[in-house]
Amino acid sequence: MRLFILSVFSIFFITACNASDLKPGKGIIATSNSHASKAASEILKRGGNAIDAAIAVQLVLTLTEPQATGIGGGAFMLYWDARQSKLFSLDGRETAPSRAKDDLFLDKSGNKKPFYPDAVIGVNSVGVPGVIRLLEESHKKFGRLEWAKLFDYAITLSEDGFAVSPDLNRTLSYLSYLKTIEPAASLYYQEGVGEKKEPLPVGHIFRNQEYAKTLRRIASLGAIDFYEGETADLIINALKEFDSKALMTLSDLKNYEIIWREPLCQMYRSYNICSMPPPSSGGLTMLIMLKILEDFDIKSLKPESKEMVHLFSEASRLAYADRGYYMADPDFVKVPVDGLLSDEYIDQRRSLINQKELVKEVTHGRPKGALDFEKNIDISKPSTSHFVIVDNEGNAVSMTSTVEGPFGSHLMAGGFILNNELTDFSMIPEVNGKKIANRVEGNKRPMSSMTPTIIFKDSNLFALTGSPGGTSIINYVTKSVLGLIDWNLDPKDIVKLPHYMNKGKVTELEENTILEDLQSDLEAMGHRVRVMPKRSGLHIALKKPTGYVGGADPRREGLVLNVE
Ligand code: GLU
Repeated sequence: MRLFILSVFSIFFITACNASDLKPGKGIIATSNSHASKAASEILKRGGNAIDAAIAVQLVLTLTEPQATGIGGGAFMLYWDARQSKLFSLDGRETAPSRAKDDLFLDKSGNKKPFYPDAVIGVNSVGVPGVIRLLEESHKKFGRLEWAKLFDYAITLSEDGFAVSPDLNRTLSYLSYLKTIEPAASLYYQEGVGEKKEPLPVGHIFRNQEYAKTLRRIASLGAIDFYEGETADLIINALKEFDSKALMTLSDLKNYEIIWREPLCQMYRSYNICSMPPPSSGGLTMLIMLKILEDFDIKSLKPESKEMVHLFSEASRLAYADRGYYMADPDFVKVPVDGLLSDEYIDQRRSLINQKELVKEVTHGRPKGALDFEKNIDISKPSTSHFVIVDNEGNAVSMTSTVEGPFGSHLMAGGFILNNELTDFSMIPEVNGKKIANRVEGNKRPMSSMTPTIIFKDSNLFALTGSPGGTSIINYVTKSVLGLIDWNLDPKDIVKLPHYMNKGKVTELEENTILEDLQSDLEAMGHRVRVMPKRSGLHIALKKPTGYVGGADPRREGLVLNVE
C-alpha cells in the first residue's frame, strides 16, 4: 500500500510542475495542497467517486493545512449527483454548545472581550465540530468505496510525514500565542536559541502520530467514535483540562447533526448560480451582488479597470450592508431571503449606484419580511480551505471547510486543531436594547461567509468555484463568477486576477498589483482606498467542450490534477 502511494506521488509530481498546462480531463481536482489533490486522484483511480475523493482530501488537509481547516472544524458541501441530475447542499457548520448564552464573549463588566487572544484562544470559541459527521453522511448516501479505505492516504502521510510548507511555516511564525499552548507548542515548534521556540522550518518532515491514531479509530468505527467514543472523550478532556468551566459536553457532541439544506440558486444571465444558503451569508450576499451587477454591461469592462472596481465595490457595499443586519442561522432567525432577492428590492438598491462617483452613505435596506435587528460586527482572520472535484462520471463536489482563524482556538485533541468558529457570532448580543440577529445562542450556528458554488448552463454542470479568505470570501467568489461568465476566462487566469472590494467604508485594493495605479482616480470619485494584501484561495473547475480545466490560486499552495 505504502509503495503504491509513493509511486502515485512521483507520477503526479511531474504533473504538479505543469499544472497550468494540463490538458482538459474527463474530470478535475483542485485543492489547496498537493498531497490532498494526490489523495483525491488516488481515490478516483481506485474506482471511487467525487464524494469518496472529497473525504480523502479533507482528512489530508486536516494534517497538512492545520492552520486553515480540519476535522475539528466545520464545512459546507455542495454536491452534484450526475446520475440523478440533482444538487445537494450539506451544512456541517459548528454549533454552539447547548449551554452557551449571548454573554459568551463579554467580560465581567459586560464589555466585549478583546478578539485576539482573549475571545479566540481557549474553550469559549470552540463550536461542536461538524466535518466528520458531514463526511460520513455524504458517504452513506453517495460514497462508493469502503469508508476505511478513504483514510489510507492520510494515515500513511501522518505516520511517514510530509515536508512543512512555506504557508504552514509562515503561519506558525506570526502566531505569538500558539507556541505557548500545549500540545500545539510541542508539535509545531522546536527549541530555538535559549528559551525561544522556533516554528518547524520549511522542508522539516512533520509527523502526527496522534492524528494517525484518531484516523485509525474513525476509519474502523465510523463517526460514532468522534461524537460518542474515544475521540469525543479526548475533545471534552482537552477542553476541561484547559478550563474546567468549558461549556461543551459529551451530549453536545452526541447530538450534533448535519443539515441537508435546499441549495440557494438564482439565474445570472443565462446561468444558474447555486451556493450555500444561511447560516452562510456567502450564497445570499453573492447572489444579491450578481443581481445588482446583472444590469450593467460587465463584459465590456476590463476586470482591472477603474469603472469595474467602482461598480463592483458599490454592489459589494450594498450587499454587505444588508448582510450585516439580516443574515444568521435560519433555524433561529427569520432571514428575508426572498425579500432580499426580489426584483423590486434589487432594482431599488441598484438605483442607488452612481457610475461616476461613490454614494456617500450606504445603509441597510428594508426588504420584505425583514425583522428589526442591529448590525452584526464580524471579525475574521483568514484561514479556511476550498476544493473542487469532478469525477469522470460528472459527479461534482464544491466544498469549503474551516477551523475559522489560523489554528482555530489553538487547542488540540487527538492530533487535530479545535476550531474557534464561535467568534463568527457577534461578540455583543445587542445595541441599545436592539438584538443582533447573529448573537450567540445555545445550539445555534454562527453566520459564515463561506461560498462553495456550482454553476449550471441549461441544467448541465458548467463550473465550480469557492475560496477561503474570511469575510472577503464572498467578493473573491463573486468576481470569479464574473470571470467565468462575463469575461469568458479560464480558471487559471481567473485565479490570478487582482482583488478589489468594499465591505462597508473602505475600498480595498490588492497590494503589489496593477490596481495600485487606480488609487488616486478612485479617491477622486470619493473612495476611501486601502491598499492591502488579499489572501484568497480560489479553486475553480470549468467544463469546456474538450473537457474540464481547473485553476489553483497562486496566493496559496494548491495543485490542479486532471482526471482521466
Ligand atoms: N470562519 C469563516 C467563515 O465561516 C471563514 C474564515 C476564513 O475563511 O478565514 O466564514
